[in-house]
Amino acid sequence: MMPPSIDQQLLERSEAALASVVLDRLDLGTTDTFEVRDPATERVIATPPDHSADDALVALDRADRAGAAWARTTARHRSDVLHRAYGMLIEQRDRLAAVITREMGKPLAEALGEVQYAADYVRWYAEEALRPAGGYRENPVGGSTILTTRGPIGTALLITPWNFPMAMATRKIAPAIAVGCGAVVKPAALTPITTLVVAEIFVAAGVPEELVQVVTTTRAGAFSEALMADPRVRKVSFTGSTGVGSVLLGQAAKHVIKSSMELGGNAPLLVFDDADLDRAVEGAVIAKLRNGGQSCVAANRILVQDGIADAFVEGFTERMRETVLGNGLAEGVTLGPVIDDRAVANFSRFVEDAVSRGADLRLGGSAPEGDGHFFEATVLDRVPESAEIAQTEIFGPVASIARFRDEADGISRANATPFGLASYVFSENIDRAFDVADRLDTGMVGINQGIVSNVAAPFGGTKASGLGREGSSEGLEEYQEIRFYNLARR
Ligand code: NAD
Repeated sequence: MMPPSIDQQLLERSEAALASVVLDRLDLGTTDTFEVRDPATERVIATPPDHSADDALVALDRADRAGAAWARTTARHRSDVLHRAYGMLIEQRDRLAAVITREMGKPLAEALGEVQYAADYVRWYAEEALRPAGGYRENPVGGSTILTTRGPIGTALLITPWNFPMAMATRKIAPAIAVGCGAVVKPAALTPITTLVVAEIFVAAGVPEELVQVVTTTRAGAFSEALMADPRVRKVSFTGSTGVGSVLLGQAAKHVIKSSMELGGNAPLLVFDDADLDRAVEGAVIAKLRNGGQSCVAANRILVQDGIADAFVEGFTERMRETVLGNGLAEGVTLGPVIDDRAVANFSRFVEDAVSRGADLRLGGSAPEGDGHFFEATVLDRVPESAEIAQTEIFGPVASIARFRDEADGISRANATPFGLASYVFSENIDRAFDVADRLDTGMVGINQGIVSNVAAPFGGTKASGLGREGSSEGLEEYQEIRFYNLARR
């Protein structure tokens, strides 16, 4: 089938959006550059500066100085600035979404969804900035009163992945600004442009020019070695793979830097015999295909109880078949490209390996010919635990389904992973749903729905999925230091 053709007006609008971005926000005279490519066409869409570790140290110095002044502003001022930033992000949603689609690939409608989700973090922290923090307690043996306060921790290093280039940036920048911290932000080299637009809008909204420094670079290792060895960095917040997270934790140990790590996932999605079939199918499609499956909370292992399995696989495969693959700027496309060639090669290998071990390929399984990094929506049923796809984070539009006998079997399979980010449970028996959810070793559980992300909820995982939480009031505390005053009383 011919892929849908690109909407020329959208293409022109996205070209204009890309051309409007100031790529060198640091303005340090850096002459090295690197290429950012559109994953749907493989064409170069921008060449931002490839900053060195020395450039990053200048950025740190600026953010640290600006942060010291920002920490003395009032909470009301910081909140007002963030509210203005929210309004401007929404006003410029079309520009932002066009940039997201061009550099990351997701269909434009999903990119607009990401802009709203990302901006919601800014509004949420504009509100949280005003909430009273701290407390009061009496010394249990008398003689003193204890007051606790929370202040900004100091300069934060924020490192983001390519899959949600806007939301992962605002989920870190907004709480840092709300409490009074400066920040150095390093976006993924595959998708640095969105973060540059966000920084520009923040400055236009009243964030001091030097408070949030965006460092575009391909030299991630040298960048973090230089910055993490500098005692001015008091906080590191990282979203990405568990491998890189452990390297950063090793570096954080030296100066005892407070760390938030949002790392890899391997989410189980459990469908029990007593689930509502339509709800389970719909939830599983959303949990699998949101962002083309390139999400840390994507349903990675779909585990279905024997009694409902055939009907579920039938319904799920039919819904996956409705997916329209193509360029995110084309009308009607619901599945965009994946991020690079390596991902495409991984999916082909997963399918081949699973089929050779006895899995049943129900849909898709191939990469279409032509430019861009595309892979079909794919369904594999009866995947044995020995298959590579059953053990690894898929990060793409390939669904891996296996069956389980009873509650104990389902729970033990769900927990048989070093990761513990998100899980999903489908059952119309609410007692069972909660009971199973309680026994899953995981930070987040979607019950009878395929979405867990919400600005008001503490996003984060257990085990190898990380440390700390983002979003909600817990996400604010990640950028704060607690202090107490012990007041003598007669
Ligand atoms: P990645 O770890 O390769 O890269 C993430 C970021 O780290 C990028 O900015 C990259 O340039 C940078 N980086 C790489 N090496 C570094 C180093 N030595 N020092 C400092 N920074 C370094 O991950 P990715 O491929 O961009 O993203 C996919 C991974 O991210 C998946 O495992 C996914 O589950 C995870 N993820 C987790 C969450 C979450 O909230 N838990 C959200 C999105 C993605």
